[in-house]
Amino acid sequence: MLGSCSVLGKSVLQKPLKFLFVSTSVGALGSGDGGGVELTLLNTARLLVSRGHSLHVVAPKGSRLDGITVTEIDGVLQVPAQTLSRAVPVTMPENSVLGNMWNYVRQVQRRFDLIINFAYDWLPFYLTPFLTTPVAHLVSMGSLNDAMDDVIGRVATQYPHSVGVYTRAQAQTFAFADACVPLGSGLDLARYSFCETPDSALCWLGRISPEKGLEDAVAASQAANIPLKIMGQIQNEPYFRQIQQAFPEAPFEYLGFLNTDQMQNIVRRCRGLLVTSHWVEAFGNVLIEALACGVPVIAYQRGGPIEIVRNGETGWLVQPDSVDGLVTAIQSLDQIDRNACRQQAEQEFSLEALGDRTEAWFDAVLKFWPRVG
Ligand code: UDP
Repeated sequence: MLGSCSVLGKSVLQKPLKFLFVSTSVGALGSGDGGGVELTLLNTARLLVSRGHSLHVVAPKGSRLDGITVTEIDGVLQVPAQTLSRAVPVTMPENSVLGNMWNYVRQVQRRFDLIINFAYDWLPFYLTPFLTTPVAHLVSMGSLNDAMDDVIGRVATQYPHSVGVYTRAQAQTFAFADACVPLGSGLDLARYSFCETPDSALCWLGRISPEKGLEDAVAASQAANIPLKIMGQIQNEPYFRQIQQAFPEAPFEYLGFLNTDQMQNIVRRCRGLLVTSHWVEAFGNVLIEALACGVPVIAYQRGGPIEIVRNGETGWLVQPDSVDGLVTAIQSLDQIDRNACRQQAEQEFSLEALGDRTEAWFDAVLKFWPRVG
């Protein structure tokens, strides 16, 4: 069930379908621990409902999804895959929420036309051939672990079109890149207000965790002597404490993990967004949220941001891991027209555009699903 939501374009599917969404297993929806996949799940749910489809969401206990009813499942959360090394075996805790969610899926699957898996976990891929309802998997990160690559690759080969990714750059981290379907991302642009005249501060958004490279943004704001507003879930407290200790004089301020409305209200008044990830970012929802507010993006030239930022037009792509490069780009922010940023968001990252791509993906998954017997 949804709150107020306009119809987001015409459905490209032949008839209304029943979807079962299975959430990430690393945190409750609304906690921020799931990162950008939480927003992607919400936006996809909203647009499918607005186009006349029905859906049911299964997620860990404590989940909240703006206007949508969630079946909450109890159990112990998975450790996020990005904290594990490449060769580490896949593990699941006792009373695993992941196992419990997929046991629920097994029991109710016959009521649905298509299951959508949002979890970057081994189990849903492994279970795919054992289920009677087709599964589309949204893979939300690049290659991180050998066992995961193996199981995702098997599904991508056996079930053509069933593995969706955000970007080509993300797909290329996998040996089976050509079998992945790039979907991009999109936003309900009405939730983000354009701001023509910013204040002086920069901002940084995201999970506070080493792969996100917050220390580079703090170092750059100190070198440029421009305040930095930091928003996001602290996933790794010792890491954040290290940054605070390493940069006692830096002009940064941590504002907490904010909801979308609060976050965009601060972001829109910032001069620029810094994206300083040390890993191959699969996409970077925060980039398009900033652009939607008219805020230019300065990002390392690696992963998803390469496919988002128009260098010199809606931001600057900087040599990866170069704080000097960030400082130079900060000094060139005035060359970027904030109207061009909002326009890019409208042209490429509307929910309608994402809806068309996502429905075409579901259509292909169902058409190519191998018939049994
Ligand atoms: N975010 C938020 N509140 C905050 C900071 C961030 O809701 O205070 C959300 C933001 O809207 C985005 C997500 O955190 O959807 C970060 O996603 P992104 O795709 O940038 O990176 P990920 O965490 O998936 O690696």
